[in-house]
Amino acid sequence: MDGVAEAGSATRPEAGQGPAPPARPGSSEGVLSFDGELRVGLVSGRAGILLGLSRQARRAQGLAELLEASPRLDRDATATLLAACLSATTPNGETDADLRLAGAPGLRFAIRKASRGTFILGIASDPILIAGGGIDPLTGLADRAMFQARLAAALDRPARRRCGAGVLLCDLEGIRAVNQVLGHAIGEDLLRAAARRLQAAVRDADLVARLAGEEFAVLQSDVGEPAHAAALAARLVDLLGRPYLISGETIVVTPRIGIAVAPADGAEAPLLLRRAAMAQHEAPTAGAGSWRRFSPEMDLRWQESRALEAALRIAVAEEQFELHYQPQVALPGRHLTGFEALIRWRHPERGLLTPACFLPMAERLGLMQRIGAWVLREACRTAAAWPRPLRVAVNISPAQFEDESLPAAVEAALADSGLAPDRLELEVTETVLLATGDAALAQLLTLRARGVGIAMDDFGTGHSSLTQLRAFPFDRLKIDRSFVKDLPAGGDALAIVRAVTGLGRSLGIAVTAEGVETQAQLQDLLREGCDAAQGFLFGRPVPGSDVPAVIGALAAA
Ligand code: C2E
Ligand code: MG
Ligand code: MG
Repeated sequence: MDGVAEAGSATRPEAGQGPAPPARPGSSEGVLSFDGELRVGLVSGRAGILLGLSRQARRAQGLAELLEASPRLDRDATATLLAACLSATTPNGETDADLRLAGAPGLRFAIRKASRGTFILGIASDPILIAGGGIDPLTGLADRAMFQARLAAALDRPARRRCGAGVLLCDLEGIRAVNQVLGHAIGEDLLRAAARRLQAAVRDADLVARLAGEEFAVLQSDVGEPAHAAALAARLVDLLGRPYLISGETIVVTPRIGIAVAPADGAEAPLLLRRAAMAQHEAPTAGAGSWRRFSPEMDLRWQESRALEAALRIAVAEEQFELHYQPQVALPGRHLTGFEALIRWRHPERGLLTPACFLPMAERLGLMQRIGAWVLREACRTAAAWPRPLRVAVNISPAQFEDESLPAAVEAALADSGLAPDRLELEVTETVLLATGDAALAQLLTLRARGVGIAMDDFGTGHSSLTQLRAFPFDRLKIDRSFVKDLPAGGDALAIVRAVTGLGRSLGIAVTAEGVETQAQLQDLLREGCDAAQGFLFGRPVPGSDVPAVIGALAAA
């Protein structure tokens, strides 16, 4: 595990010698000294970071050995640099050379004579060559520009192409939540700790980079066969997934890795990166097997998914959606209290699609605000025509809280339809409060003050349901379908239903069971004193035009 002290050690202090101190992190110069025999004297911490040297490599005696161990220099750059250093040591040799080398993207070198018999090689990240300097200031790893340049260089060389190179893209799920819940300082320590684990797991010739946020990449050199890249991925998943101990907090994040190997999966850098990203996209989100290597079918699925994205954009513009309504009943009498509005997409070729097929994509594309506003207007308009006091429940996604416009969108939907606020209930999952925090809380309070009901959907499936209950006075808890499904046989499921109904009773919050399909399930729920229910046993979601018939049938039952 990573300790607190270790967490800060990626940026080491300067060795106290050589050129001016750093102006800002990432821009300071690293120094190493050598003598006329090209023996290494001092290697500053910064030089080690800039050259990407492992602890062991930093102890090299000879300059040649040390430079060869640097994953930031290709063979040509190493040779040129050595020649320049050697030349500086000769009596009439050139000093004060200022070098930029194609095989060392993002770095600048200066060679100076320090005193008799001692020479200094200064190394700086090159702000002109690469914005950002080639080095990620947070972790000391290479940055995206450096990674791309090194990947391109690796693929450019016929000799290396024969040996093969692997690109492993790795992201860590859960960091966002760490930032929000534990704060950014701990999030940054976590990134540094992960960076160290990555760096320690690869060979000196491999390059580790932080591309952005929690996205890391490894350029694996000399990948004799793709299985070598797979073996590294499996090792990285294991290492990165182990708990981190940071500032007294034990934190677990989930790594996901996508692999593409040159030349089999592509010979150009951009293609290889794209294919590694596709593979990552398809990697399972948890467990030891959370890595994938690119396969040609992924290309096909990727294209299909792009086509669906394009179609979804059109669907939003043309409002190709409809709402279906599922009855909600009060227990024990099965008295109809209202309906939950559930969105469907009438796809021109593929017919009626359920939310699971397109809502996650809509979230990713930033379309959820517009879709959500449409759902609110349409649901309120439809419900306004139902007999009072029947209510409508509308699902709200986290994205709808983002620009704090939810209260206004609800207000507009109520005003346009004339629906009374107490006939509208909004369903949010706990991810809403987890992902959008105080901003969501404030909006929910505004809405509740306006008389709109607020329900917590899918209760029990998240990680902090109970904490959320203290943060906000919910009107209703909806026990997730997964627990109801296991009734009546499942011992655990019954225990959870019992706990949630008990919780609801003591906090004065109504409890609805979702996904009730059988009489046996209903009997259990009645025994536990559940207030309300929803599920195929009482009615499936139906189009708005069928709602009057459902109202009639349930009234007669
Ligand atoms: P949810 O809000 O938990 O909705 C209940 C889901 O369970 C619905 O699936 C419903 O059709 C299904 N269901 C209800 N009773 C039963 C049952 O007895 N057995 C089984 N097996 N399933 C049952 P659906 O319509 O596919 O919706 C899935 C999820 O998509 C919803 O889960 C909700 O989170 C989301 N969603 C639906 N409409 C909207 C919307 O307009 N906006 C947002 N943001 N999310 C929506
Ligand atoms: Mg719902
Ligand atoms: Mg639900």
